[in-house]
Order: sequence, then C-alpha cells, then structure tokens
Amino acid sequence: MSTCIAARATCLQTQEPLCRRCMTRAAAAIPRLVYDYRDPEQQLFTYPSQRLDGQPGRSAETPIPLRTDVEALQRSIWWVTTTWAEVLCDHHHLEPPDWLKRTRNGWATQWACGLIAPRTATLMQFAPQQLADYPIDGQGQAVRHQQVSLLEISGARGLLDMAWLHDRARSMLGLTELVRRLPGYCRKCSRPELYQDNGSDTVYCGACQYKMTRDDYERYGNVFLRSAA
Ligand SMILES: [Zn+2]
Ligand SMILES: [Zn+2]
Repeated sequence: MSTCIAARATCLQTQEPLCRRCMTRAAAAIPRLVYDYRDPEQQLFTYPSQRLDGQPGRSAETPIPLRTDVEALQRSIWWVTTTWAEVLCDHHHLEPPDWLKRTRNGWATQWACGLIAPRTATLMQFAPQQLADYPIDGQGQAVRHQQVSLLEISGARGLLDMAWLHDRARSMLGLTELVRRLPGYCRKCSRPELYQDNGSDTVYCGACQYKMTRDDYERYGNVFLRSAA
C-alpha cells in the first residue's frame, strides 16, 4: 500500500497514484468543467457599485470592467483540459481536430473533457510530462526555458488539477449572484427594487413587476436614479 498523491485527510489506502475517493472526485469534475467554462460567460461583466448620486447611467460605449479572475479561471480550464486531451491523443494515436489550435473556447473545452472523461484510469498512470506554461503551479517549481515555463506534471496530478478547477469554478459562481440588483428606483412605483436576471436583457421591478429593457434603463438612467418620493 502507498499513499495517494493528493495526501488529503480523506484519502483512502491505495496502490495507485490516486486513491478511489480522489479518482471519483476527479471523474465527477471533468464533465462538469464544460459547464464551469460556459456558465461564467455571463459573469465576465460586472456592473458598477450602487450610485445613487444622480449620475446618469453608462452609455453603451463605456467599457464594462472585466472579471479578470473569471477570465483567468476560464483560461486555466481550457488550458488544462486541452493539454491533457492532447497528451491522451498522442498516447492513443488519435488526431486532435484541426480547429483545436485556433479555438480557445467552449468547444475546445467540451472536446477535451469528452476525450478525457472515459480515459481517467489511463491518464492516472501517466508519468510526468513536460508541459509548457501550465497554468497551475502547485510547488512553484517551474523552469524557465527560453521564455517558456516548463513543469513536470504527472497524469494523476493533472486529474487533481481538474478537480481543483471544478471546485474553484463552483465557489466563484456561488459568490456571484444569479440575479443582479441594479441601482435606481422604479419609474412606476418609485421603489429601489430594480433587478436583472443573469443572461437576460430585461430589467424589472421586484415590487410592481414593471419591466423595461436594459437599453431603456441605461437611456433613462437619470430618471431611475432619482426617487420620486
Ligand atoms: Zn486520495
Ligand atoms: Zn415598481
């Protein structure tokens, strides 16, 4: 018997690089990474904090601040899944799709997760691979080689990284509300109860159900930001 490389308090005895509990966790995480990549798309944009000082709403041209933490997480999900999928392709003499190199998006992540999910047992046995610019650096042991940072990462470590990315995505989504409260007062009932559902274009009043488009909300910013009372 040896120790699971995750070395968690919950790890079971094992003769493999990962114990059964860690494998189950990784296997469950991999298909969900497809959604973890896709779901935060809506959250890349944040609205400025409440301004009830009569400032007009932002015009359509004003750049909206990017959630750089979400963007970085998406990039890591894409990077880690496609990297390991390509390693598996090599091993199984499969050709990665030719669009892969040009695509950094949900499709590539979906392809990669679909390829890895049925092959986790194979991946777990992979000896350390030299990977360039791998985004998760557990031990800080990256070696710079002609401007490229190289890390030696085993397949088992890769599986743990994917489980970690899934946890990270969930906690990030959990912290971000699916319904946004917007600054301002309802034009009909004057209550400060304006909301917008994630992914929806409609702004609505939680008190009287008055609805308008987000464009209208922006256009009449001054009106909504002043209480009629
Ligand atoms: Zn374990
Ligand atoms: Zn209202």
